[in-house]
Amino acid sequence: MTTLHAGLEKLLASNGHGKQAGAVWLVGAGPGDVDLLTVKALRLIEQAEVVVCDRLVSPEILALIPASALSIDVGKTPGFHGMKQSQINQLLVELAAAGQQVIRLKGGDPFIFGRGGEEMTAVQEAGLVCHIVPGITAATGCAAATGIPLTHRDLAQSVRFITGHGKDGKPQLDWESLKDARQTLVFYMGLTWCGALSEQLIAFGRDAETPVAIVERGTRADQRVTLTTLHQLAETVLREKPQSPALLIVGEVVRLYRKKELTECASLRLQTV
Ligand code: SAH
Repeated sequence: MTTLHAGLEKLLASNGHGKQAGAVWLVGAGPGDVDLLTVKALRLIEQAEVVVCDRLVSPEILALIPASALSIDVGKTPGFHGMKQSQINQLLVELAAAGQQVIRLKGGDPFIFGRGGEEMTAVQEAGLVCHIVPGITAATGCAAATGIPLTHRDLAQSVRFITGHGKDGKPQLDWESLKDARQTLVFYMGLTWCGALSEQLIAFGRDAETPVAIVERGTRADQRVTLTTLHQLAETVLREKPQSPALLIVGEVVRLYRKKELTECASLRLQTV
């Protein structure tokens, strides 16, 4: 890969002269397993000249970026560390305005907790075209990888994808709407505030014994699943120290994970695999 600053300057200096109109492609990279990329995402990655990626894109997927491409990691590249959303938006706009087809590679699906909407609006407001390529979101990827169906005729008639992180940290949610025992709750970014989440859910009527699966690095080779219950969630997280990216799946459907072992237990006990 070209060195970041030299490559970036060269691309921006081309300023659209003699090139086709640039565009931004918001591409979902899925939850990590390279085989879960869409064919469209794979084609775009393989033809990419400039890729802007975030920290959730797995190393196996990053390895598909051609060596000739300029790859800008806005998640952790030194010098770009802590890049604000507004700066990322600006970078996308500048690259596309310079005539580039910019592949903006995002973990999961760009439109699910991925700030894809903000990036799309910024690109469109600059008068440029933004294409969206969906990806498998962490919830469906983790569900498949653990055998936990998110809905089930007998157990859950609906599913909610929820952010466990409020705008200022602690989640401010409509707890009343989350109390239905037949609704699966999937919390993205739920680890930090898991204590507050479980307390509120129980206070608003969810059964304290509701099973919870903590799925770390779902679909990746080093995926880890920890089972617990709503009232033991904070304690389990303290003890097991799950690492991001991790998803919390809350609801009766979690009992279907490794059903045999679970039904052998008198009560749901912690399991780590
Ligand atoms: N756009 C992404 C979500 C971005 S928010 C998507 O559609 O999946 C980031 C959060 O997603 C993480 O904090 C974590 O809760 C979840 N996440 C992303 N990839 C994950 C993975 N492989 N396993 C578990 N959780 C994941």
